[in-house]
Amino acid sequence: MASGSAIQIPSRLPLLLTHEGVLLPGSTMRTSVDSPRNMQLVRSRLLKGTSLRSTIIGVIPNTSDPTSDCEELPSLHRIGTAALAVQVVGSNWPKPHYTLLVTGLCRFQILQLLKEKPYPVAEVEQLDRLEQFTNQQNKSEEELGELSEQFYKYAVQLVEMLDMSVPAVAKLRRLLDNLPREALPDILTSIIRTSNQEKLQILDAVSLEERFKMTIPLLVRQIEGLKLLQKTRKPKQDDDKRVVAIRPIRRINHIPSATEDEDEEGDHDDVVMLEKKIRTSSMSEQALKVCLKEIKRLKKMPQSMPEYALTRNYLELMVELPWNKSTKDRLEIRAARILLDNDHYAMEKLKKRVLEYLAVRQLKNNLKGPILCFVGPPGVGKTSVGRSIAKTLGREFHRIALGGVCDQSDIRGHRRTYVGSMPGRIINGLKTVGVNNPVFLLDEVDKLGKSLQGDPAAALLEVLDPEQNHSFTDHYLNVAFDLSQVLFIATANTTATIPPALLDRMEVIQVPGYTQEEKIEIAHRHLIPKQLEQHGLTPQQIQIPQVTTLDIITRYTREAGVRSLDRKLGAICRAVAVKVAEGQHKETKPDRTEVAEEDCKEHITEDAKTDSISDTADLALPPEMPILIDFHALKDILGPPMYEMEVSERLSQPGVAIGLAWTPLGGEIMFVEASRMDGEGQLTLTGQLGDVMKESAHLAISWLRSNAKRYQLTNASGSFDLLDNTDIHLHFPAGAVTKDGPSAGVTIVTCLASLFSGRLVCSDVAMTGEITLRGLVLPVGGIKDKVLAAHRAGLKRIIIPQRNEKDLEEIAVNVRQDLTFVMASCLDEVLNAAFDGGFSVKPIVERLNSKL
Ligand code: ADP
Repeated sequence: MASGSAIQIPSRLPLLLTHEGVLLPGSTMRTSVDSPRNMQLVRSRLLKGTSLRSTIIGVIPNTSDPTSDCEELPSLHRIGTAALAVQVVGSNWPKPHYTLLVTGLCRFQILQLLKEKPYPVAEVEQLDRLEQFTNQQNKSEEELGELSEQFYKYAVQLVEMLDMSVPAVAKLRRLLDNLPREALPDILTSIIRTSNQEKLQILDAVSLEERFKMTIPLLVRQIEGLKLLQKTRKPKQDDDKRVVAIRPIRRINHIPSATEDEDEEGDHDDVVMLEKKIRTSSMSEQALKVCLKEIKRLKKMPQSMPEYALTRNYLELMVELPWNKSTKDRLEIRAARILLDNDHYAMEKLKKRVLEYLAVRQLKNNLKGPILCFVGPPGVGKTSVGRSIAKTLGREFHRIALGGVCDQSDIRGHRRTYVGSMPGRIINGLKTVGVNNPVFLLDEVDKLGKSLQGDPAAALLEVLDPEQNHSFTDHYLNVAFDLSQVLFIATANTTATIPPALLDRMEVIQVPGYTQEEKIEIAHRHLIPKQLEQHGLTPQQIQIPQVTTLDIITRYTREAGVRSLDRKLGAICRAVAVKVAEGQHKETKPDRTEVAEEDCKEHITEDAKTDSISDTADLALPPEMPILIDFHALKDILGPPMYEMEVSERLSQPGVAIGLAWTPLGGEIMFVEASRMDGEGQLTLTGQLGDVMKESAHLAISWLRSNAKRYQLTNASGSFDLLDNTDIHLHFPAGAVTKDGPSAGVTIVTCLASLFSGRLVCSDVAMTGEITLRGLVLPVGGIKDKVLAAHRAGLKRIIIPQRNEKDLEEIAVNVRQDLTFVMASCLDEVLNAAFDGGFSVKPIVERLNSKL
């Protein structure tokens, strides 16, 4: 910045006193502000709210003792630099302070101090006026011309000793030619190695002639220093016969000491090694070019520079990346089928589809085509199937969790320009697996976020697009990496929140929840053996009979998948492992499963007895017997059952009905509760409902009101106008989960019908269906998950819309056998099925009418 050529500063300036350095016109300085005076100045002059006001302030070097900076204003240095605040950053740690970035504009001198508190303000006179200078000082122009020429020559000489490949140096070289000569003394003084005292002298040198005269010796001193340094380096390098030529010194004000120099030598070896690795690595031509350029820069950088570490990390990553390293695919479809079957019970549809996919891949011998996306509730084995696919192909497996990712640099990396930058997850994953053809499981693509930092879905699209991904460019790498050999598989809980463009690239395979029978099989074939192994137990030490597993499934978990089940089994294994490790385990009575619960107490006392015996008479212990996990043991380890008797208990009053809801976590049963009270006909809804659900509630009430007479429904005062002097409150418990969708319509109607008729809804009935104002029942989604949920909860009768009948085919036969389905096409049918003995309608003629 030219020092003050066309700048007119105000005649009154607030003054900032700095201890840390001397700001000269044309240069920029970062200074920390923590004294009350300066803080006050920043707050009232520079900040507007939290944003910066560009105000000119006077920066005065504080030459007095910094510790005395308290109440009294120290005597002020007469000359200062008017400056523009460019940036203010506030922080409270370790104590409140601001960091201020200021750019010097021109000199000024204080004429008169106008006020001292809360911060000093002075009347000032601007000193640097360059245009004046050229006009007025004609007489000495010749002399000055010579001086400035001399100065310029030294400046150029100095800059040329530096490494031009460092951008800052190149820029300085350009500045030398482009800036007015008069601005150079200030700028160079602030760049080269000078003490604050020297800088202060330059600041005080108001006359330009004086300034030139004073800066020339400083330049010469720096040049001599550099020459000396280069001399001491040269012979060393000759000795070593290093390929590397002279390492010029890049940082002007940094003259390394001897010890530092030795360090750098050691480090230099590393750099040579790194270069060798780069040259022998199989990276792409483009990457090689970039790396060689970077290593050249690295060699010239002092280690202490932050950029050194950055560049080095970058190069090390580049060397480590599997540019050309891959595993050999082995795929034999028959073996793949066996492997998939061995690893996973049930999920036939999914396994079939995966095998087809693999077979097509084998025939076509390329990866182009849609990306498989497994969609289903948590814990149904989506990740685990992905892992099996990698195993069948003999490929490395890596999971990339996308849940909550909302910044595209998570995928594509940060540009290397800022500290802390790193590659994105794709490149990181490649580095971790060490080959370029792994199976990447993009977990939870439905939970990708979006933010100001760009849309990660867009970045992901590029990763997945076979037309583009052979030259995927991570911002950090800044060179293309070929991702075309990577096999991507995605998982999600729901397709609803997958960005449409991504969904378009995917072939969705639904993975529904498991039935109880399937869960038992999965537990015994897979989960229990795995848990035993993890806990170092053998089947000789612990036995979990199937009835116990069923107990865990029905009384301790309520989920579509098997994740909690797995966790509970883990808890059991841990407890048993402790027992085994303590060597305390004793023979468990084989008949214990048959013991009724009331006997529990007796057993505990008996157990206590055996305990004390075993403590004293170890040798008398019978040969090792497995610890049998029965319901008593379950209660000891897992606590009392969490889900029990809930259903019938809650349905013991009128005004409660069970609906079936679909959530990304699988199907769920949902209670709907209603109550009425005196009021003015208001409807209150609670339980985190979406708009569609609220509409269903209004529809349900309207329908009931218009059919009140037909059903003989009255409010408390006996009126058929149900809302007359009556308020209704509808509640959907489990309030933390947001619920929406139209499928609760039939449940709300049933619940209200129960409330106004005073009759109980059958305790084993659950229902789902959308309603219309005229009382028709429309089809809804997620039938399979909902039916499984009802089955899990032990319900027996399920009312579904007539037009959903076809969806029942997907449900396993054994589940269907346990349940009775009622297909309803209108609300009359729903109510008839929901109440024991039906929900009678009085005049038959009206019933016919309503059906029209
Ligand atoms: P998801 O990715 O769907 O959330 P996971 O793949 O993490 O679920 O599965 C959780 C656990 O359940 C894993 O240990 C997995 O092996 C097991 N699992 C799930 N489904 C099955 C199955 N059908 N057969 C065997 N194990 C299964």
